[in-house]
Amino acid sequence: MNYSVIKYHDIANGTGVRTVLFVSGCTHHCKGCFQPQTWDFNYGEPFTEEVAWQIIDSLDDPFTEGLTLLGGEPMEPENQRALLPMIRKIKQLHPDKNIWCYSGYTYETDLAAPNGKAHCEVTDELLDSYDILVDGEFKLEEKDISLQFRGSRNQRILNMKELRH
Ligand code: SF4
Repeated sequence: MNYSVIKYHDIANGTGVRTVLFVSGCTHHCKGCFQPQTWDFNYGEPFTEEVAWQIIDSLDDPFTEGLTLLGGEPMEPENQRALLPMIRKIKQLHPDKNIWCYSGYTYETDLAAPNGKAHCEVTDELLDSYDILVDGEFKLEEKDISLQFRGSRNQRILNMKELRH
C-alpha cells in the first residue's frame, strides 16, 4: 500500500485532535472527488513498517484523541490487509485512543456482508476495531458544506461500537 500524506494534530477529520493517514488507491471514482490523484494505488510513498510506527507513536501525545483513516479508500481489500497490523498494534498499545475510518463503501452491503464487494478475510476484525465508520460514496448532487465530518448528505457517521457489539 502507498499513502499520500500523514497529518498530525489535525482537527478537521473526526473529533478532537487527531493523526490522519491518507492512503492511496480508490476504485469508486466519485464525481467531484476532492483528491482524484489518490485513486492511483501507486500514488505517494510506500507505507512501510517505519511509517506505521511513526503513526502509532504519534498517539503517545496525550492531546491526540485518535487516528483517522482516509483516502483514497482505506477499505479496498488490499488496503485493509496493509492496515491491519498497524491497527492491531494501536488497539494493543493505545486502547484508550479512538479510530475513525472514511469509506466510500456502504457498511451493510459492501463491508459487513460476507459476500460484500469489499469484504475480505480481515474486514470483520477491522470493523470491530473502529469506533466510527463514515460510509458511502461522495455524491456531488448531495454535497453540503454545512455537514460536520461528511461531504454529502448520503454519507453516514456510524458508531461501530453500538453496531457491532
Ligand atoms: S471514495 Fe473518496 S477518494 Fe474515492 S473517489 Fe470517492 S470521494 Fe474520492
